Amino acid sequence: MAEHESLEFGKADFVLLDNVSLEEFMANLKHRFEKGRIYTYIGEVVVSVNPYRAMNIYGRDTIEQYKGRELYERPPHLFAIADAAYKAMKRRNKDTCIVISGESGAGKTEASKYIMQYIAAITNPNQRAEVERVKNMLLKSNCVLEAFGNAKTNRNDNSSRFGKYMDINFDFKGDPIGGHINNYLLEKSRVIFQQEGERSFHSFYQVSVHFKAVADAMKVIGFTGDEIQTVYKILATILHLGNLTFGVDGDITLIENSKVVSVIGDLLSTKEDNVEKALLYRTVATGRDVIDKQHTVQEASYGRDALAKAMYERLFCWIVGRINDIIEVKNYDARVHGKNTVIGVLDIYGFEIFQNNSFEQFCINYCNEKLQQLFIQLVLKQEQEEYQREGIPWKHIDYFNNQIIVDLVEQQHKGIFSVLDEACMNVGKVTDEVFLQGLNGKLAKHAHYTSRKLSPTDKSLEFDRDFRIKHYAGDVVYSVVGFIDKNKDTLFQDFKRLLYNSSNPVLKGMWPEGKLSITEVTKRPLTAATLFKNSMISLVENLACKEPYYVRCIKPNDVKSPLLFEQERCRHQVEYLGLLENVRVRRAGFAYRQTYPRFLQRYKMISEFTWPNHDLPSDKDAVRRLLQGCGFDHDVAYGKTKVFIRTPRTLFSLEEQRAEM
Ligand code: ATP
Ligand code: MG
Repeated sequence: MAEHESLEFGKADFVLLDNVSLEEFMANLKHRFEKGRIYTYIGEVVVSVNPYRAMNIYGRDTIEQYKGRELYERPPHLFAIADAAYKAMKRRNKDTCIVISGESGAGKTEASKYIMQYIAAITNPNQRAEVERVKNMLLKSNCVLEAFGNAKTNRNDNSSRFGKYMDINFDFKGDPIGGHINNYLLEKSRVIFQQEGERSFHSFYQVSVHFKAVADAMKVIGFTGDEIQTVYKILATILHLGNLTFGVDGDITLIENSKVVSVIGDLLSTKEDNVEKALLYRTVATGRDVIDKQHTVQEASYGRDALAKAMYERLFCWIVGRINDIIEVKNYDARVHGKNTVIGVLDIYGFEIFQNNSFEQFCINYCNEKLQQLFIQLVLKQEQEEYQREGIPWKHIDYFNNQIIVDLVEQQHKGIFSVLDEACMNVGKVTDEVFLQGLNGKLAKHAHYTSRKLSPTDKSLEFDRDFRIKHYAGDVVYSVVGFIDKNKDTLFQDFKRLLYNSSNPVLKGMWPEGKLSITEVTKRPLTAATLFKNSMISLVENLACKEPYYVRCIKPNDVKSPLLFEQERCRHQVEYLGLLENVRVRRAGFAYRQTYPRFLQRYKMISEFTWPNHDLPSDKDAVRRLLQGCGFDHDVAYGKTKVFIRTPRTLFSLEEQRAEM
C-alpha cells in the first residue's frame, strides 16, 4: 500500500470506523493527532486538528504528490480538497467553494492560506506574467487584511476579527485571473476596548514597528503613496482620539487636552476648530431652525468613541474595496474565452461562547446557524444528487434541523432581529430593557428561547438582563446590555461632515455621505443587525449555488500546546460541528464510491478476471465480475459511471487482499 496510509495511523476516513460512536470517533481523532496525522476525512469533508507546531507537509514535494490525484489516493490533506475543488471547477466547469469553519484558534486562517498557496502553486504552468501578477496580489492581500483585521486575543495571537469570503476567478485554461473579497462584521469595538491580555488590531502596533512590510505589500497590490500616507494618518488619529478627555466648566463641556485637537486637525487635513466643534456640539434640526446643541461629557465621550470605531471600520472596508478594484477581473470576454469560473474560500468566525456574550457573539452565532443550515442542505443535497445522477435509490436519514433557530433570529416581524429593530425605532424610551420585554412578549413559548423573567429559577440565567438561546451547538446566555446601541450604531452626522470636508481627497472619498447637511438627512440608516442579516443571506445564497467542500477545524487545547489533546474540549467541538451526524449521513448512503476505471486500476490485481486486463464489454462489467468473485456483490450498487460500496468493511477487505498480492 505505497500510496495509502498504513493502518497504524488509525482510520484515514471516519466512515471506516467499525461503529459510529462518539467514543470511536474520538479515539481515532486522538490517535491520529498523536501520530502527527492532523487531517482525517469524512467522505469529502476534511477534519483538521490544529497541530500548534510547524509541520513538514506543505512544501513543494507534497504539493506535487497531490496534484491531479483523486481524494482517496493520498493521505488526507487540505491539498487534496483544494485539488478536488480545482478539478471540479476545471473539468466540469463548476463554481466551487471551500467553507472553513471552527472556533477561534482552530486553524481556519492558516488552512485558507495553505489552500490558496496550493492553488497558486498548481496553476499557470506557462508562467504567464499577467497570471503571476494576479497570483501575487491575491496572496499579498492576505498580509494587508491580517494587519488591519486581526488582533491578539486570549484565544489566538493572530485572531481574525472579521469574516472573509474570497472568490478566485479562473479563465478557461484554469489559471487565476482575478478575485473578489467580501468582508463581514469587523469587531470594531476592539479599537476602544480590549479585554485584559488582549490587544487592538495589529496595525496600531505596526505603525511604529513593522509597518514597512504592510506598506510594501500595499504598494505591490497597487495602493498609491498618498493612500498609504492617509492610512497612517487615520491610524494616528484614532490613537490620539484615545487620549482625548472631556471636562466641564460651569455648564460648558470642554476638551481637557486641547493640544490633541490640533494634532488631529493636522492629521485629518482640516481646521482645529472644526474638529473641536464636531466633538463638542451636535447640529440638530428643530422644525425650520438648525441649532448647535452642546454635548454633555457623556455624550461627547460617546461621540469620540463612535468616531474612532467608525473611522477604523470605514478604513478597513475602504482597504477591501481598493483591493477589489485592483484584483477584479477586467476585460474578460466569455464569448472568446469561455466561462469564467470561481473557487470561493470562506474563512469566517466560528461559534463563540464567552463569559459575557453580547451583540457581536449573537451575530457570530447566528452566522454559524446559517452555515450549519447550509451544510445540512448541501451535504444531503449533494449526496442525493449523486445518487440520482447515477440512478441509485436514496434512503432518507433524519437529524436535527436547525432551521427553527435560524427562523428564531431572522424571521420578519417575529424574529429577534426584528424585535431589536422595532425597539430601536421606539419613540421615547429606547433601552435594552424595552428590547428584552419585546423578546419575552413575542418568544415566551419558543422552545429555543428563554430569559430570566421566563425561567426565574434557572441557575444559568444569573441576571435580569440575561436571555438564553438554545443554539444547535449548545446553550448561550446573552446579556442584553448594549444591544440597542450596537444595533443603532449611531455616528453623528457632524463627524461625517467633518471627514467629508477634509482637504485630503483620499479621506474625503471614504465619507461620501458627509456631503449631506443636517436638513438633507432624512433616511434612517439600516441597523447593524439588518445589515448583517442581509449580508449573511446573500453569502449563503452565493455559497448554495456552488459545489461545496468543507474543512472542519478543531482546536485541541487552550494553551497552544502541540502535545495536548484535551478530550472534553475536542469532544464538544466534534459534537457541535455535527461531525458524527455527518459520518452517519455519509454511511447511510454509500461509504465509498469510485469511477469504474479508477476502481479497476486499484483492485484489478485481486481477481483473475481482471488481471492484468479484462476482456469484458465494459469496465462496469469487469468491476461487477470482480466483486461477484470476492462475494461482495450484495454490498454494492452499480451506478452509471461509479461503483458504490455501502459498508467500509468491504473496502477494507479489498484493501487487505490488495496488500497481500
Ligand atoms: P480565529 O477565529 O481567531 O481567526 P483561526 O481559526 O483563524 O482563529 P488560525 O489563526 O488559523 O486560527 O490559527 C491559530 C494558530 O494556530 C496559528 O497562528 C498557528 O500558530 C497555529 N496553526 C494553525 N494551523 C496550523 C497548521 N496547519 N500548522 C501549524 N500551526 C498551525
Ligand atoms: Mg482566523
